[in-house]
Amino acid sequence: MFVRELDNGDVMRVLGYFSTVPQDINSAQSISLDDVARELLTLIDNWSSRGSGFVVERIMRFTTCITKFRPLHGSSFIPTPKHIANKMCTVNVKKNNDNKCFLWSVLACLHPATHHVDNIYHYRPYEHTLNLDGLSFPLAVKDIPKFERQNPTVSINVLSLDVGDFCIEYCSPERQRPHHVNLLLLSEEEKRHYVWIKNMSRLVDDRTHHDGKTFVCNGCLQPVSSKHVLDCHIPNCLRNPPQAVKYPNPEDETECTVKFRAHKNSSVSRFIWFATLNRFSPQWTATTTTATMMRTLAGTPA
Ligand SMILES: [Zn+2]
Repeated sequence: MFVRELDNGDVMRVLGYFSTVPQDINSAQSISLDDVARELLTLIDNWSSRGSGFVVERIMRFTTCITKFRPLHGSSFIPTPKHIANKMCTVNVKKNNDNKCFLWSVLACLHPATHHVDNIYHYRPYEHTLNLDGLSFPLAVKDIPKFERQNPTVSINVLSLDVGDFCIEYCSPERQRPHHVNLLLLSEEEKRHYVWIKNMSRLVDDRTHHDGKTFVCNGCLQPVSSKHVLDCHIPNCLRNPPQAVKYPNPEDETECTVKFRAHKNSSVSRFIWFATLNRFSPQWTATTTTATMMRTLAGTPA
């Protein structure tokens, strides 16, 4: 809780919320409470040093969350889920009980077979064509950037299955390399398994009503109808981290309507800020005065 004294002698109190960066804890490394305290103090200093004059009055709540961290990596074979297999868009290399499903899936893309594409026989001759120095299998998703650094002609994207949708586990920053490989990380209880996504358009075909091949953005998985549209979309999409677009439920007014509801997080101010609203209301031009906008918003003719 922060507090400050106003010019008229009143006291204003507002709540501040802060969270620290998660720490990995294992048998060799314990939690550093000093780091947590240092980070919290920095956050509070930054918040209260913005000219607000607020000072900390008291701490209302301090919560520590501890959860089991299970790093993602692909290992044992998992059959492709039926709803994905029916789309005929993935190659799931079989009989790879050596934990190298990442390698076989990448090779399936780099050296596509023409028949029995899920047979590891086709890809064994290329096993040593990639630089795998220092990489251990099953390969964790966090080690894929290292794989990319050692193999400068290949870029990788990894998706996983979410509830009825997909989640982007890794989106390569390398977009101009000769070979790009899209992988799907399947999971079944404790097991993980990489398969090659041979056809992204088919994989996400239920995201569009477009009848035919689409071009899919790796940053947000949105399918578009032409390469030109995709090329226009990508520079804007890349401004944001990878994301899965999830549309609100049109049947639920609360969910599909943008409205300020967090009134408890607002505080009294002595000024009013107006955004440029002509984007939403074409009749407002750059020369429209603030008074005109206020009259219009109030429902009186301008
Ligand atoms: Zn996108």
